[in-house]
Amino acid sequence: MRFICPYDGTPVNENLECEKGHKFMYHDGIYDFLVNSKVKGDALLERIAPIYDKIWAPLGFFLTSFYSYDRIFKDAGSFLSSQNFLDIGTGPGTIFKYVKCEYCIGLDISTKFLSILKKKFSHVIAVRADATSLPIESASMDSVSSFLVLHMLNNPSLAIKEISRVLKPNGKCEILVLVKSNVISRLLSKWWKIELRHRDYYISAIEENKLTLLEIKKYGPWLLLKCKKQA
Ligand SMILES: [Zn+2]
Repeated sequence: MRFICPYDGTPVNENLECEKGHKFMYHDGIYDFLVNSKVKGDALLERIAPIYDKIWAPLGFFLTSFYSYDRIFKDAGSFLSSQNFLDIGTGPGTIFKYVKCEYCIGLDISTKFLSILKKKFSHVIAVRADATSLPIESASMDSVSSFLVLHMLNNPSLAIKEISRVLKPNGKCEILVLVKSNVISRLLSKWWKIELRHRDYYISAIEENKLTLLEIKKYGPWLLLKCKKQA
């Protein structure tokens, strides 16, 4: 596995420079691919940062009050454990307690979360990048997850396209998203100021991107999707 430029897809060398001259940075144990994308990076952070601050507590409360979040993670651990594993929107990296991997990448746009992740899981490669243009080589991952993140993006289907691109043939992915469903999802979407999509939106995005849907589970307003990259 090696990094590629999130703008033009050319390889990134040891000095974190792409063939077309884009420069990236390694700081505080983080590979930072948003460092020179001021407009894009900042706009994205501005939009998402306030949501991040509010997300974990209410989410934890909601999920644990109806279902066992720990059980979802344990199940993800057995489904996703593999050699090369990528978690998109990893936050403080909780999933790395459950997923066993040799080459583990945690990706997020928040430097704060990635710093916490590095302290807890020093073996995980911390990458700061946008979920809709991953600095990850095509067909290099055995498994990819994205929990509680995709519904917050302007264009979730672009992120699903990227997940498919970086997966090896037969590689696995698991996605947990908030979908338009009931009163709870309407409340959460109002609170987080996001526009929710119907479950069919995600199912179509998966099927249109060479991914086979293996399993769908509904947890209240949350939808858990397991899929596999076509060979
Ligand atoms: Zn470049």
